[in-house]
Amino acid sequence: MEDCIFCKIIKGEIPAEKVYEDEEIIAFEDIHPAAPIHVLIIPKKHIATLMNIENEDTVLMGKIIQTTKKIAKQLGIEENGFRLIANCGPDSGQEVMHIHFHLLAGRKMGPKIVS
Ligand code: AMP
Ligand code: ZN
Repeated sequence: MEDCIFCKIIKGEIPAEKVYEDEEIIAFEDIHPAAPIHVLIIPKKHIATLMNIENEDTVLMGKIIQTTKKIAKQLGIEENGFRLIANCGPDSGQEVMHIHFHLLAGRKMGPKIVS
């Protein structure tokens, strides 16, 4: 997708602080961190929102969760924990139309995930 900022990061056209990369998935630091650790985990395949996931993407989505575990260990947050969030659609405030999972850690999160 030509206009997609995350596709540009995947292609190396926009810089990002990468924390993980394999053939199908990339993770990089959020440019406006909401916690001491704020990483975005995304598939390299352009999928706009969670509502655009197809049956053929099931394995890829599972791999993203497995990769979250890998990254949590890599960042040393597997014991203290973290929050994983995916916004979808206008009411959620999703700004970038390329599926991404926010991995937030490094501080105590509030008891509610809504604001
Ligand atoms: P969302 O509101 O769920 O769509 O989140 C989009 C996230 O992408 C926000 O937390 C932004 O700070 C982050 N973001 C936007 N542009 C970049 C960029 N070039 N590099 C890293 N993070 C970005
Ligand atoms: Zn994209």
